[in-house]
Amino acid sequence: MTYQELIDRILQLQDEGLEIFNAGKSTLGKNILATHVGDYDGTQILIQAGIHAREYITSLLLVEMARELHNNDLVKNGGIYFIFLVNPDGAQIVLDGISSLPCNITRQYLTLANNGSNNFSQYKANVNLVDLNTNFDANWGGGSQNVTCPSTQNFIGFYPQSEREVNSLIDFTLKTKPKLTISYHSKGDIIYYGFEGQTEQNRQRDFDIGTVLSKATGYPLVLTENSTGGYKDWCIQKLTIPAYTIEVGSEDLPHPIGEENLPEIYAQNKDVPLIALDKAREYANLIDFKQLYVQNMKYGKIQFTNAVGNNARIQSKAERRSTCWRSYRQKW
Ligand SMILES: [Zn+2]
Repeated sequence: MTYQELIDRILQLQDEGLEIFNAGKSTLGKNILATHVGDYDGTQILIQAGIHAREYITSLLLVEMARELHNNDLVKNGGIYFIFLVNPDGAQIVLDGISSLPCNITRQYLTLANNGSNNFSQYKANVNLVDLNTNFDANWGGGSQNVTCPSTQNFIGFYPQSEREVNSLIDFTLKTKPKLTISYHSKGDIIYYGFEGQTEQNRQRDFDIGTVLSKATGYPLVLTENSTGGYKDWCIQKLTIPAYTIEVGSEDLPHPIGEENLPEIYAQNKDVPLIALDKAREYANLIDFKQLYVQNMKYGKIQFTNAVGNNARIQSKAERRSTCWRSYRQKW
């Protein structure tokens, strides 16, 4: 599969009537593609994938989920945002190779970090050699595998939320105010929940919802330990909402996981979006989207708190488009 083929798979959803829009931009200016199914009124959840370059199988999984749930009557009294590929620059490096990068200096820099090899199939980072899922402001730098120098994996960045992709995901989350988030990764057939500092009540809530997800997928539910700075961690620590990392694909499979494994992975995960939405609704009185966090954008401070009223008023599609467009003009 080439990078363009991956993007085309996402864009082809438009032929089936799904609206594809941008959740933000990557370091190299690529669009971070997203869609929404269900109603913009009511409870929203957010499912994101492809934050690690070599894990683009998770993007293909979200394409299948969005297709299945589009115009599906079971998605009601709320909706689901899918962000297909948070790290498009990294995915292109894995799929098209280092020669796809525009600058010779960048190619040399990344090749050096890759121990001189031209094989980038195991690459996880973005184009700045930052592991995006360690770059969030949630006990940043406290993970057991963290490294503090640029690397093809596990580099936390020179400061928290230094990366454009991370800021894009944060902005989008603050705009859409999901009551629950799911981050798809590969591999290991496992679901992680919880984060240090959570209240006992919230820990129990997340365990209860996670148990249902675990039953549906057949993946064990495991409490997060020794891992920090991820999107899930940020959602739990800064927003106090339930958030999960789901690692798809057997541990025995090599990275990157091939598309031939998609049918099995989809079968295991197909019920996750609807269960997550149902549970977010069921536990609504225990889920308070606290905006403990005010984002100071690298490109200038932007207020997002009024982009979508605090559940009181949800934007129409047209309004949302114009809001996105306004923030683009402001930022880029
Ligand atoms: Zn991952």
